Order: sequence, then structure tokens, then C-alpha cells
Amino acid sequence: MIYLDHNATAPLDDRVLEAMLPFLKTFYGNPSSLYRLGRAAKSAIDAAREQLAALIGTQPGQIIFTSGGTEANNLALAMLPLQAGLAVSAIEHPSIIEPARHLQSQGHQLTLLDVDANGQITQDAIDEVIRLKPGLVSMMLANNETGAVQNVAHYAGQLTAQDIKVHTDAVQALGKIPVDFNRLGVDLMSLSSHKIYGPKGCGALVFNKSVTINPILWGGGQEQGLRAGTENVAAIVGFGKAAELAKAEFAERHAHLLKLRTLLEHGLSAISGLTIFAEQAERLPNTVQMGVCGIDGEMLLMQLDQKGIAVSSGSACASGFREPSPVLVAMGVDPDQAKTAIRISLGIANTEAEIFEFIKQLKSLIEKG
Ligand code: PLP
Repeated sequence: MIYLDHNATAPLDDRVLEAMLPFLKTFYGNPSSLYRLGRAAKSAIDAAREQLAALIGTQPGQIIFTSGGTEANNLALAMLPLQAGLAVSAIEHPSIIEPARHLQSQGHQLTLLDVDANGQITQDAIDEVIRLKPGLVSMMLANNETGAVQNVAHYAGQLTAQDIKVHTDAVQALGKIPVDFNRLGVDLMSLSSHKIYGPKGCGALVFNKSVTINPILWGGGQEQGLRAGTENVAAIVGFGKAAELAKAEFAERHAHLLKLRTLLEHGLSAISGLTIFAEQAERLPNTVQMGVCGIDGEMLLMQLDQKGIAVSSGSACASGFREPSPVLVAMGVDPDQAKTAIRISLGIANTEAEIFEFIKQLKSLIEKG
């Protein structure tokens, strides 16, 4: 199997698994318990919080562990004060778009920020938001489909100067480009463990102490009373270890991914009728979303699967009816062309040989039509 879908999820790093195992069996105490077994679990969570804080340049106390990026995004939007408006970019992940729509149904005014043909939020959209003065703006740091990186630090500066709170979904950016919470200048940031070779079902919301978080789960007061529920200790330990490795190996991983992406794009450039979406944008070093004129992306995905290659398509299946990717549509891509999209997202274990094999198989499938 040649796995080229790391933006969907990345395989668990063996070193992460090793760090997690004792907390699934030996150190099974509840971190809220006062005896030794409980304290061991609590210390392990504290250590993981420090490992993650070191990766993103925050204090450990600014991190709330959650069940993943989806929960972190929902928790971030829940800070919205009553009556306040909300603005989110048109290319956000469903875990932002859907809670935003829910808030809209509850009476909050919702504004979608336009993006340009390269999938990047425009200054005009920011100017309009400043005029509207919503309670919160959410804009992702890197898009999961195109890999386009947003100029979050630049826009956050303009927005926070107007007392508008800013959230960024940095789930796809973490580990792939530098993510420094303070340098971004945002108030809230979402992260997910399984995109950085940690376990699934674990994430974090990072917050600036000036923000009042409104919990979405109430109970035993865990995570500073902001996210109740007995902590998923092993997963948090795994997330911490994955963060430590992402920091230690950042330069090496980045160089490897960029080398593979360059090789991939060189191979793709020889295929006629092929478009790389958001090509002119600064993109994640591991992501290429492409389409070949007249070739259905999902069909191509299935044919590649038969050749042992895993990629993803750019369309979402809603009630059996295939919709073109809302991200591409927001970029002004024609809906028929959007249905040609497939996404290749590389990982640290991919090799040059795998890229050559992918290009060979892709060319042969396209020639067969
Ligand atoms: N945000 C983005 C940009 C994502 O790509 C994803 C996952 O695909 C999420 C949020 C959700 O993260 P999780 O799978 O941890 O809930």
C-alpha cells in the first residue's frame, strides 16, 4: 500500500505507541485520584502539556486537551457572547462551518469570508469584517484540501487591534509549518493529535488568558473546569510524545516533504490537462490537490485504490448525491472541474520510489481514460 492521504490521518509513530502503552495498562489510575497511581497519570498529563506547549510556544496552562480537532473547534466557537456575530472563512473544515451554521440558527449573524482563486482570504473580506465587528473571526492556518496557508498573523493583528477575537484552526498546519501561538497573535487555536502521528481522538484548544471559554461539557472540573470528563491519559501522553518528535524533527521532516512534493509536481507537470489547485498560494509542504480535465476524481481514487494507492477525492458525499468540494467552489472553480479533484498528502515515511510509482500508475490510468 502506498499511503498518500496524511491530511486525513497519519499512522501512529512507533515511538508514540511505546510512550502510550504503560498508560493503557500499568498506570491505569484516574488522574483526579490522590494516591500514587492517580498522581502518576496526572504527572504524565502535565508532561504532555509541557511537550505540546514547547512545540507551539505557549505556557502549558493555556492548553485544554479535547477529544480532537472537531471538539476544539466547537469549543472555540462556543466562546461567542450572546447576540455577537461570527465570521468564518468560506473554506473552513466542516467542524467550523457546521457549528457556525448552528449558531446562525440560534440567531447569531454569520458572515463567510471570501477567498481568492488561490484559496486565500482577501484583504477586502477582512475590511468588511472589521466594519461588521463580530465577536469572533475563525480562519484556518492551512487548508486541509489545497494546503493553502493563510496569512493569519497579518489579519489577526488587524482584527485584534479592533477588539475582535480571532480563532485559528491549525490542525493541518501543526508539524508541517512553524506554528507559534504568540507569533500568530490569535486568541484561540485548535490542534489535533492524529495529524502529527499521534493517536486519534485527542486534540487541544489553546487559548489566550484574556478569552472567556464557555465549556460545552460540564462535570468533574477537569482541564481547569473548561472540559469535564476523565482524561484520555494514554492518548494525551501520545499527543505529547508526537508533539515532542514534531519539534525535534521539524527541519528534517519539512525538507523531506518538500523534496517529495517537488518531485511529485515535476512528474505531474508532464501530464496534459492537469491542474494543481491553489498552485500560486504558499502551500503545506506535503499537499497537492489536482484534477485532470474530464476525469472524475472519485473514479480515479477508486482506480488508484485498486493499484494499492490511497489518496482522497475533493468531494463530499451528502445523501448519496456527490457535491463538488465547497472549498474549490469558494475559490471560484467550476463545479464540474471541482469534481475532478484528488488530494495527495504526503507523510514522513513516504519515499521517492513511491512518488515515481504513483506518477507511473496515474499516467497509465489517465491514458486508459
Ligand atoms: N480541522 C481540520 C482543518 C481538519 O483537517 C480536521 C480533520 O480532518 C479537523 C479539524 C478535525 O480534527 P479531528 O479529526 O481531530 O476531529
